[in-house]
Amino acid sequence: MSDISKLSVKSTRAALKKKEFSARELTQTSIDAIKRKNTEINAFLEVFDDALEQADGADRRIANGENLPLLGIPIAIKDNILVEGKSTTAGSKILEGFIAPYDSTAVKKLKEAGAIILGRTNMDEFAMGSSTENSTYGVTRNPHDLSRVPGGSSGGSAAAVAANLALAALGSDTGGSIRQPAAFCGVVGFKPTYGRVSRSGLIAYASSLDQIGPFAKTVEDVEIIYDVLRGKDELDSTTISEDTYPIQKKFSRTIGIPRSFVESEGVSKEVRENFSQALNKFESLGYTVEDVDLPHLNYSLSAYYIIVTAEASSNLARFDGVKYGLHKDGRDVIEDYFKTRGEGFGKEVRRRIILGTYVLSSGYYDEYYESALKMKRLISKELNEVFGEIDLILTPTTPTTAFKLGEKTSDPLSMYLADIFTVPANIAGLPSISLPSGLDGILPLGIELTAGLGREDNLFIAGKEFLGE
Ligand code: GLN
Repeated sequence: MSDISKLSVKSTRAALKKKEFSARELTQTSIDAIKRKNTEINAFLEVFDDALEQADGADRRIANGENLPLLGIPIAIKDNILVEGKSTTAGSKILEGFIAPYDSTAVKKLKEAGAIILGRTNMDEFAMGSSTENSTYGVTRNPHDLSRVPGGSSGGSAAAVAANLALAALGSDTGGSIRQPAAFCGVVGFKPTYGRVSRSGLIAYASSLDQIGPFAKTVEDVEIIYDVLRGKDELDSTTISEDTYPIQKKFSRTIGIPRSFVESEGVSKEVRENFSQALNKFESLGYTVEDVDLPHLNYSLSAYYIIVTAEASSNLARFDGVKYGLHKDGRDVIEDYFKTRGEGFGKEVRRRIILGTYVLSSGYYDEYYESALKMKRLISKELNEVFGEIDLILTPTTPTTAFKLGEKTSDPLSMYLADIFTVPANIAGLPSISLPSGLDGILPLGIELTAGLGREDNLFIAGKEFLGE
């Protein structure tokens, strides 16, 4: 086989079963493609040295007639999800040399389902960013146009799937880090309901918002991977059980459009046009489309950047140069901390720690953090209520197509605006998916569907219908 561009996870499983090719051949094809293209794209930070050995193991199990959902499928893993015995750095210098002592639950489940853990992918340091330019290990480039960013923070995983270096990949999504790069790279990216997938072994960014989820070329594929990943986990007390969100409304193909939000300033002409085409397509598929009034959505981004920095400043306190990775010697232990953290964290991470510490400080807690939490409750309430009437909310995934490398690095606020459409789902814990919706020239566009709590099923039905799967 020469490349994997025509294969999906589903069709590959069928082909492996029929012995059209082996897991070793498939894995070797990915490794060869990575050798050819990765110098340019920098999607992978490492291909694991036991990938072919894992493939041989899968081939033996296939020969024995075993049938598991991901048996023999190579999957790439974002560099903040632990894989036992492998280096995991979250794109940061401070974790250089850190070897994961155990598997994250997500990786453990992939392994149990027969997947080959192919390698780890580049990301914005500690998942903070929207362009994968904040990695200590160099930028990742968009495979559709190498002068542009792949989105972020899971840019390496999105680029790996888009460039046909892997059939699928895992990412993490705190405010859009799966969906936004999926849109920029023209692939499917899915964030489950908060609590559906265990965060055990995911390096925490903002624990109340983080979720692991898959990237793939089709909705069917992300569903297959999600079915492997999901479930209550005793190692993560925030995971939910199957019956946490009982089904209250039958799927009736109704889509709500938060019109003024979609027409926010900064949404490009191409994105607006593509969005109305997507809307028409849903109508021609028999969906009822109606406007919904969600006035608080406009405050999502402000609330998000307060909550996320507050939680990050607390989560990142553990990187003190004693427990993990980098250590720099000072004159005393306090100076050790200062030096290690000063040299180990990049600029954006330091900015967010300072912001987070500020919004949590005793004089400003009420004004910022407490207000952001109140806003979070209002937004969640508003969204949960609207899902009593409609099944799905449709918006573009991003306000523009992929921007140029370096275009927004000196202006963090304009970078933060790239997340305007993705953060509400994290704030309210809702499941949300980005679907490829066409091209503007050579650049991919994406639309985003969001469903009520626990209603991943609605996203998969509508996603498949939209993509004609
Ligand atoms: N771009 C957003 C941020 O920088 C989202 C990141 C994410 O989802 N991890 O916080």
